[in-house]
Amino acid sequence: MDKNQIPYKIYLDENEIPKQWYNVRADMKNKPAPLLNPATLKPMTADELSVVFCKELVEQELDDTDAYIDIPQEIQDFYKMYRPSPLIRAYFLEKELDTPAKIYYKFEGNNTSGSHKLNSAIAQAYYAKKQGLKGVTTETGAGQWGTALSMACAFFGLDCHVYMVKVSYEQKPFRREVMRTYGASVTPSPSTTTSVGRKILEKHPGTTGSLGCAISEAVEAATTNEGYRYVLGSVLNQVLLHQSIIGLEAKTALDKYGVKPDIIIGCAGGGSNLGGLISPFMGEKLRGEADYRFIAVEPASCPSFTRGKFAYDFCDTGMVCPLSKMYTLGSGFIPSANHAGGLRYHGMSSTLSQLYHDGLMEAVAVEQTSVFAAAEQFAKVEGILPAPESSHAIRVAIDEALKCKETGEEKTILFGLTGTGYFDMVAYQKFNDGEMSDYIPSDEELQKSFDELPKVEID
Ligand SMILES: *Cc1c(COP(=O)(O)O)cnc(C)c1O
Repeated sequence: MDKNQIPYKIYLDENEIPKQWYNVRADMKNKPAPLLNPATLKPMTADELSVVFCKELVEQELDDTDAYIDIPQEIQDFYKMYRPSPLIRAYFLEKELDTPAKIYYKFEGNNTSGSHKLNSAIAQAYYAKKQGLKGVTTETGAGQWGTALSMACAFFGLDCHVYMVKVSYEQKPFRREVMRTYGASVTPSPSTTTSVGRKILEKHPGTTGSLGCAISEAVEAATTNEGYRYVLGSVLNQVLLHQSIIGLEAKTALDKYGVKPDIIIGCAGGGSNLGGLISPFMGEKLRGEADYRFIAVEPASCPSFTRGKFAYDFCDTGMVCPLSKMYTLGSGFIPSANHAGGLRYHGMSSTLSQLYHDGLMEAVAVEQTSVFAAAEQFAKVEGILPAPESSHAIRVAIDEALKCKETGEEKTILFGLTGTGYFDMVAYQKFNDGEMSDYIPSDEELQKSFDELPKVEID
């Protein structure tokens, strides 16, 4: 190997793991719009938010000014169990594609929960413990967040109650069992255990559930049980903050070799991994120090950025949560049941929504069969079996690398490989059996749920 050649894996030492998170909002000229109280349409105050969320997390949620926030020592210690995560040069994929592009990916699947979600779960559990709470409630879709949170709660001795989207509860029994192994209790959502769940079941009998429904139930469970708060695995500013560890590590590793990416790609469900990965790079772009192309990749069956509206909307189906200004398909939108590829949330992080609205980031929507084709192409040459969510980013990384092949440009591409696909074999099976189809919602279908967006007039 030539000594100037970039190694297959760029390692960081334990002491190079960042000791502070980076808050990209501090460098944004146009700040993300505040969360609104759905009753008064006034910005949510810290006191109001503290009924639902842990106190220190509320402070992080509302902090638009501090660029760096210290990572508490206990969280730094936990991070050492599975971080730094590897930054890998995809030499084999480059060879397979016969592209002059240089491709790197940051792999977050090297922990038992199998995804990046643990980065924020451990932080949220830490602050709940510090506040002296008994436990936390949450929702989970595909199951990665619930799994990560159960691990984090087990570590700090907190009770963990998870509302799991019914379709996943049925399709992913092993996820459920991992959560129970770490001591969490798991309820399929919508359920009859909450009043909002009962209401949703009445309105949509036989529904397979959605993240929005499960959020409503988890919030109700937190606010009606003494000593509990609600925690969320994506979308919120605090989650993007915790996930900045991904981008900070990636940047430190690339800087060691003087590598500057031209294009940074991530899949976008609620926006937390993408927000975390791009944060320090976006910071440079916002401060005018460097330029990058950022690409959010979403499923064509749940296209919040590319076909959604930038508007205030509920974060949940039961309309119990604050209103957030974001790209949204409407809180009543439920992706078609044949959608296997994760990323099924109707809305998007308000921070990323603002950046996208200001033209600082691009977005593309991809169809699930093309996503699984990319996943298998990647697995065969790079070894890692990727999560369907992560494979959205792989799809577009491959597409961009193939464009370079046509033009001969030697662009450097960095993408986020958020997790492993071991618990998604039902989806892989469908794809391998040729039974997976692509569903793209019609304009009429989307319009129906846009019509139910809350009417919020603010200046
Ligand atoms: C949850 C999840 C996502 C999507 O969530 P974001 O908040 O958009 O990052 C992507 N990949 C994996 C593996 C996940 O578990």
